[in-house]
Amino acid sequence: MKTLAHRNIPITIIGGGIHGTSIALRLLREMPTAKRHLAILDRHPKPLTQWRCKTERQGMTFLRSPAVHHITPDALGIVEYAERHNRTSELAPPYAQPSTQLFWDFCKDTLSSVGAGFPCSPGSQIHPIKHGIYHQFEVAKLRWDKGAGKFPFRLISTDNQGFRSRCVILAIGADDCAYVPPEFTQWQRQFPERVIHASEFSVLKEFETSPAKIVVVGGGLTAGTLAKSLSEDGHDVALIARKPLKTEQFDFPPVWLGPKALAEFTSETNFQQRYEIIQQNRGEGSITPDIMEALVDAPNIKRYPETCIRNILTAKECPSAQRLQIETTRDTITDVSRVILATGYQFNLHRYGFLRELITQHQIPLVRGLPRLDDDLQLHPIQNLFGTGTIAQLQIGPAAGNIAGASLAYERLREKLHSQL
Ligand SMILES: Cc1cc2nc3c(=O)[nH]c(=O)nc-3n(C[C@H](O)[C@H](O)[C@H](O)COP(=O)(O)OP(=O)(O)OC[C@H]3O[C@@H](n4cnc5c(N)ncnc54)[C@H](O)[C@@H]3O)c2cc1C
Repeated sequence: MKTLAHRNIPITIIGGGIHGTSIALRLLREMPTAKRHLAILDRHPKPLTQWRCKTERQGMTFLRSPAVHHITPDALGIVEYAERHNRTSELAPPYAQPSTQLFWDFCKDTLSSVGAGFPCSPGSQIHPIKHGIYHQFEVAKLRWDKGAGKFPFRLISTDNQGFRSRCVILAIGADDCAYVPPEFTQWQRQFPERVIHASEFSVLKEFETSPAKIVVVGGGLTAGTLAKSLSEDGHDVALIARKPLKTEQFDFPPVWLGPKALAEFTSETNFQQRYEIIQQNRGEGSITPDIMEALVDAPNIKRYPETCIRNILTAKECPSAQRLQIETTRDTITDVSRVILATGYQFNLHRYGFLRELITQHQIPLVRGLPRLDDDLQLHPIQNLFGTGTIAQLQIGPAAGNIAGASLAYERLREKLHSQL
């Protein structure tokens, strides 16, 4: 791959996940020549690695969102792909939610056709090495030298490579912001191998040689999916949620994809209020009907809604085996092998080390850790630094971090991106 060192790149996207690739594909569709002016950077060697790992680690077999939401602007892209490959059985009713494998294969196929870093399929005309826009490059520092010519951004990698860019889009997801509720931090310190956040846990890893008792904390889809996957592997699962377990197909009301709700949202001038609206609409998480049915049917899952954990101790009966005893507001669960915190993510720009200096130096205003982007998704006061994904919540609303949020973000970014080329 052509190295980035010492080059001047008009548009750089940091993050090769769902959002980074979606923005790039939309831009390339409208301006194919952008291929020569665009770089996607990610710490992983291949695009969408994070997405793939997250879904595999939980054992998630179907997406929550309908087939129309994916990485290209063609609403029927996945459906047509499924038809072409005789895989329509992987579109689940009622909204044609694709299987994670179908979604992945479709993305892989789409990205190799534009040479974005996947190995080419046989017969492809595009050579990924010559045309690759995707670069494995972990950004260690982002600098903005205001007034320093046409390429004011300087990006430096963890292995000290550097290049300049005219415009930068942050598509960094929220994975660096795993949320551990405060009461769990002491227990996590006490039992670092046993009390872990869901982002560090994988159902694929051989973590117990025989069936064990696992506590999953959380009321969202991650908690539900993990409980289901673990029970299918023969473990006994206690699913503990602070609130009643809620069943919903989607993780936010679909009106948030339409212009009316979004216009009302952006007419709210108080950004703190916007934050509250997002919290109200995304709530504390919910579980899809199919997963909830599996949880109810599984004989080895016990649900503890409206329950809090009061204490976590070493189990008295077998301290050497490091089993835990969990005291809850309902009862005590003994002989627990692990506590998995499916307690989500809480975005905070400060958690991204490569941005720390920039935030301080230019006093980027934050509301509850989220930047107050302007209407074009620009990180005021830095010109031509944009955000998409969870980072853009205060402009895009509750759908910002979802797949559909990328298409809403692109509508806001389009004009500015076109003007860079
Ligand atoms: C298990 C799971 C299932 C989901 N299912 C759905 C669903 O069905 N439908 C839906 O709409 N949404 C779903 N979501 C929500 C959302 O769509 C995903 O979280 C999605 O991955 C977000 O995309 P993203 O590009 O913003 O973030 P990510 O996929 O996390 O990508 C961000 C990328 O930025 C890179 N990065 C960060 N910092 C740096 C740096 N300094 N240098 C280089 N690279 C960096 C990371 O390596 C990563 O690859 C799901 C989320 C999870 C966790």
